[in-house]
Amino acid sequence: MTKRMTRREFARASGAAGLAAVASKSVFAQAPAVRAGGTKPVVVASGNGNTSKDAAGVTCVQKAFTMMTQGADVLDALVAGVSIVELDPNQSGVGWSGLPNADGVVQLDSCCMHGPKKRAGGVAAIEGVRAPARVAQLVAEETDHHLLVGKGAQEFARAMGVKIEEGLINENARQRWLEWKRRTDPLHYLDPKTRAQAWYDAGLQMALEGLTDIEHFWGTINCNGVNAKGEVCGVTTTSGLAWKIPGRVGDSPILGAGLYVDGEVGAAGSTGRGEANLYGLCSFVIVEEMRRGAHPKDAGMTALKRVQKNTIEKRLLNSRGLPNFGLSFYMLNAKGDYAGVSMYSGSYAACTENGPQTLKTEPLFEGRATD
Ligand code: ASP
Repeated sequence: MTKRMTRREFARASGAAGLAAVASKSVFAQAPAVRAGGTKPVVVASGNGNTSKDAAGVTCVQKAFTMMTQGADVLDALVAGVSIVELDPNQSGVGWSGLPNADGVVQLDSCCMHGPKKRAGGVAAIEGVRAPARVAQLVAEETDHHLLVGKGAQEFARAMGVKIEEGLINENARQRWLEWKRRTDPLHYLDPKTRAQAWYDAGLQMALEGLTDIEHFWGTINCNGVNAKGEVCGVTTTSGLAWKIPGRVGDSPILGAGLYVDGEVGAAGSTGRGEANLYGLCSFVIVEEMRRGAHPKDAGMTALKRVQKNTIEKRLLNSRGLPNFGLSFYMLNAKGDYAGVSMYSGSYAACTENGPQTLKTEPLFEGRATD
């Protein structure tokens, strides 16, 4: 079996090149230009927004910030940024190289929202495309609808000139799927409820053994930005939960859950256990909290506390009676204040005029989800 580079190794290997690229990006020194209009421009994202790099050594947040402050439309900049992660073959939670569903098929989810234009678009369970965020953007730009799923989403992408690749799967992801299949095959004889739990447990066990990245048993990028004019946009894109039941759609493409943007208020998005977020529509809650004047961090904490309160099923609790899963939110307001919060400690990415950074999220609880 080919040795797979973990996301951390990938980041480490490309770190030096990345730092050199940061230093040479003159846009980060142009403070007066980026301050016009009274808003401090910022791009904020999940931690992978500052790990995956393009051929020039540029990360998602760096790319989006540079494009945005050079005058590109904010959503265009964010979609270009997340495409760096979507196209990175060394990560396993976003875009075509994400881990597949239970049938070994890669199905991707994404949505985006344009604050000033008050338009949004999404795709769910789309197959055969490498980078679904652009397809989500095309749904917003070219149709009267918000969400296209499955075959319909794929046909739409094809019609828009996006390359469709049958059977698209990363070789490392396919090998991991084979291992998962080997471990779970006998369980097909169990009743559906026990089987579903066993599938989940086998996937989690493989992550704990280091066969897959524990952080990306779930895996996603959410990336939000505001430019100097206070124009806010956001995008979320993912391959969803590893080994999911075919057709399962998570929070990422659902407005109010995986992403919500209000052009006058701000943006919020998520990574982590999508089902927990869907029950609370947390990105919507966070934007509404910010509308009432809450700082992005406090707004995010309100959502996390609500998720914790609504998590009562024993199978979802750890030995301390707390949620046994990760969930994180990344948000910014129209003034350029931003934050990343998570159920347990984690990291997030941000880029301002000072350059890209990886920061610690504010955790709701100490320790780990599995304690
Ligand atoms: N939230 C995504 C989902 O549930 C997965 C993730 O963020 O890791 O599909």
